[in-house]
Amino acid sequence: MRILVVEDERTLASFIEQSLRAEGHAVTLCHDGPSGEAAALTGDYALVVLDLTLPGRDGLEVLDSIRARLPELPVIVLTARAAIEEKVLALDRGANDHVTKPFAFEELLARVRSQLRAPRQRTSSALESGDLSADLRTRRVTRGGEEISLTAREFELLVYLMRHPDQVLSREQILNAVWGFDFDPGTKVLEVYVGYLRRKLANGRDEDPIETVRNVGYRLRVPRA
Ligand code: CA
Repeated sequence: MRILVVEDERTLASFIEQSLRAEGHAVTLCHDGPSGEAAALTGDYALVVLDLTLPGRDGLEVLDSIRARLPELPVIVLTARAAIEEKVLALDRGANDHVTKPFAFEELLARVRSQLRAPRQRTSSALESGDLSADLRTRRVTRGGEEISLTAREFELLVYLMRHPDQVLSREQILNAVWGFDFDPGTKVLEVYVGYLRRKLANGRDEDPIETVRNVGYRLRVPRA
């Protein structure tokens, strides 16, 4: 199996590489967030081992971007012993498993084996918010049970909003996660896509699930039960 290891501590990365190779896997190493993210999104890997503190781009953001585009790719995150919140955040955001540093390589290998054996539905493939639902595997979106046809980019935008319900997301965060920009291009691309998405989601309804937060960005409203 081809495994991607994203870890900036080079000594540790090469030990991980050696132990995975010894198990018969082909291993690619990346030492920073942006190159790890780009490699993961090629779709060439069966599994990603992802450190969370990385130069260039935070591991959690890399995880978000993998989850938005390759929802079924198993990701095992490496976290520091003290960082309990980090571990919880990573699992909430769709990591399949985690290993706390320092770890025995046997432990990592056992978790890798278990992920590679697991059926590919370990992460929930359906996101729900109010009457909206998005299936990450089939890319089918419905509102109130009615199917809504979205383009690939509209789908990614909606999924990113649905992964952060009720959370105010800045324009920069959204542009970064959905378009991969690490700067605000100063264009109206985001506004334009939010407009498309609103029109399609409205589908004869008054209630707009996407709230504009002035001077910041957007928020997906979650209806109170
Ligand atoms: Ca690190």
